[in-house]
Amino acid sequence: MGEKKNRPRIPESVKRELWIKAGGRCEFRGCNKYLYKDGVTKQPRNLANIAHIISWTETGPRGNENSERLAADISNLMLTCSEHNNLIDDPQYVELYPVELLQQYKREHEERIYRVTGMGQEYGVRIIKMISKIQNQVPIISDKAVSEAIMPYYPLESDIVIDLTNVEDITSAKKQIERLIDLHIISDQKQESYCIFIMSKIPYACYLGYMLGNKVKSEPYQFFRDTQDWKWKNGEFGHFQVIKPEKENQRAEVNLLVEISGNIDHALIPDNLTYSIKADNPGFMFIQSKEQIVEFQIKFRELLNEIREIHGEQVIIQLIIAAPNPISFEIGKCIMKNIDPTIFLYDKVDEDIKYQKVMCLHSRIRMQG
Ligand SMILES: [Zn+2]
Repeated sequence: MGEKKNRPRIPESVKRELWIKAGGRCEFRGCNKYLYKDGVTKQPRNLANIAHIISWTETGPRGNENSERLAADISNLMLTCSEHNNLIDDPQYVELYPVELLQQYKREHEERIYRVTGMGQEYGVRIIKMISKIQNQVPIISDKAVSEAIMPYYPLESDIVIDLTNVEDITSAKKQIERLIDLHIISDQKQESYCIFIMSKIPYACYLGYMLGNKVKSEPYQFFRDTQDWKWKNGEFGHFQVIKPEKENQRAEVNLLVEISGNIDHALIPDNLTYSIKADNPGFMFIQSKEQIVEFQIKFRELLNEIREIHGEQVIIQLIIAAPNPISFEIGKCIMKNIDPTIFLYDKVDEDIKYQKVMCLHSRIRMQG
């Protein structure tokens, strides 16, 4: 050896290949920093380092007898931010980043970039976010959490945001929902799919579902408090049971309870014949999977048909819901505008107060205005 070696030049073609494979992002696991834009000024700027997994000198970090041969070999190079290039080569930490681990980081990153960028237009969906104050708090639906929940789909255009945080009465909330649907969805010629993220009061979620109906393909997501994300779980979870009154003679008015996140106190509901669709084990964590939403929708739809058959089209349904937003949304969505009886929605303003009629969700005879 003798003389001090210079770091060998990496050919432009190898650099280009690495940039493409890394998608312009840091390949250190968990970083993913975009390397062609200044983080603060947003000006285009090359921030990338090209790091060696096996150092280009035998005495360098992870160097060995192959150092010279792999000095400009694409399989031995990682695109990184300067921070992570410094970290993996730092004598204090270098042992934490052996060759096999860095190769794994590189492989995982490059496979993910290839997969994600391979998704064409058919994976694009529109996002609808709806929020209202919940116990005086303004909820936040993060873009990152939404992106993670809809994978492998990705959001097209900008989100449709229905912000009801400053809306106090239900009439103006309904108007705002109608206006946004007119604006964005009725005019939608592209027949896109909509992913629904709601953090709002039950009646709003229900009304959004009702207004969307089957005009477009839509799918609700649920916020999980324990994991703080919106990702549906896979697996076998609880089912629903339908509880019907014994005497089934015709009535002018019936109660329909949806007891998913909790039980509804029968002392606080109107004095009527009562039907209920109920979680096996009601609670805030009961709904975990998309399959449960489908099962609910089928059973709820069957129950509506049955109520109409027994009590006639003139019956008035007093609907009382204790359920998470995706269920409330699906309830509204599966109402059949030309068939179902009139449905009034009840809600509770205060804990110990009786449920009160808050809106006409569906009117059998279409009302004007
Ligand atoms: Zn990094």
